[in-house]
Amino acid sequence: MTVTDIAIVGVGKIARDQHVPAISGNTSFRLAATVSAHSCLDGIENFPTLDQLLAARADIAALALCMPPQARYEAAAKAIAAGRHVLLEKPPGATIAEVEALVRMAEARNVALFATWHSRFAGAVEPARLWLRDKRVRHVSVVWKEDVRRWHPGQAWIWQPGGLGVFDPGINALSIVTRILPAPFHLVSSTLEFPDGREAPIAAKLRFAGKGGFAVEADFDWRQTGPQTWDIEVETDAGTLLLKSGGAEMHIDGRETQQWGDVEYSAIYRRFAELIATRSIDADLSPLTHVADAFMLGRRVTGEAFEE
Ligand code: NAP
Repeated sequence: MTVTDIAIVGVGKIARDQHVPAISGNTSFRLAATVSAHSCLDGIENFPTLDQLLAARADIAALALCMPPQARYEAAAKAIAAGRHVLLEKPPGATIAEVEALVRMAEARNVALFATWHSRFAGAVEPARLWLRDKRVRHVSVVWKEDVRRWHPGQAWIWQPGGLGVFDPGINALSIVTRILPAPFHLVSSTLEFPDGREAPIAAKLRFAGKGGFAVEADFDWRQTGPQTWDIEVETDAGTLLLKSGGAEMHIDGRETQQWGDVEYSAIYRRFAELIATRSIDADLSPLTHVADAFMLGRRVTGEAFEE
């Protein structure tokens, strides 16, 4: 079996929580280095900048870019130009056009490019897609409410332009809905609540129109303390499907069908190995397009100031 040497770029929360264990658990990869300005991993060579890694380690064939979206394009463009395969954390970039440009660069350079959507790899997502594919959708309700203080402590970038605010988790819901519904949908209205003095929304209410006449309603909120809610309910002509816990649990007509464990990042790295083997591109931008539309059509209201 071919083993690909890989480096993680940006050693923050998601790199430590998910990428490091997923890479160690996949025999197709060996974690060969990191790029981090402020951190490092025990026993792994670290480079303070990506330029230094690219110059020093021609043997590292793949890079997992785990920094915030605002910094992703520049790093990805350099990595692709240097002939490396690239995995992009979600969201794949700060704008749609920059990610489209990366796709064209990867095609021209013949390297693999994977714009990951980790929630699409939650255990119930594929069973839900298969259950829905021959149904007629009547209504979809998405409720994605979590506590920003618990999940994003001290992350200044998430409140800055391009950080997406509550759409940072909300885009995960959209990545599932765009995968499982058998018909396309598009945004028709959006209300975004910005905390006084902040540059990104803390809450959003969206409404989409689906082909065939159904509506998708989404309620994203970052102020939920206590139990967290990551639910998607799809009413169809043949029953109601409910995904709970971000796609780790599936219920049909109130009956729980199955629960899955934390399988998302191991599946992401299996897919990345396949893409590398065939030098292929997997970059579906539909979740990012819906978020961009929500900003374009968004009615903005200012709410209470948010303090960490
Ligand atoms: P984080 O803890 O703030 O870490 C991001 C790391 O990126 C930083 O530690 C820093 O690493 C590096 N970096 C490079 N340029 C930066 C910049 N301009 N500003 C801030 N950091 C910069 O963020 P995270 O939670 O890991 O999120 C990173 C990406 O993963 C985001 O796109 C997020 O949506 C996604 N994600 C996060 C989670 C989660 O649970 N947190 C889950 C799934 C996906 P160095 O100091 O090492 O250079």
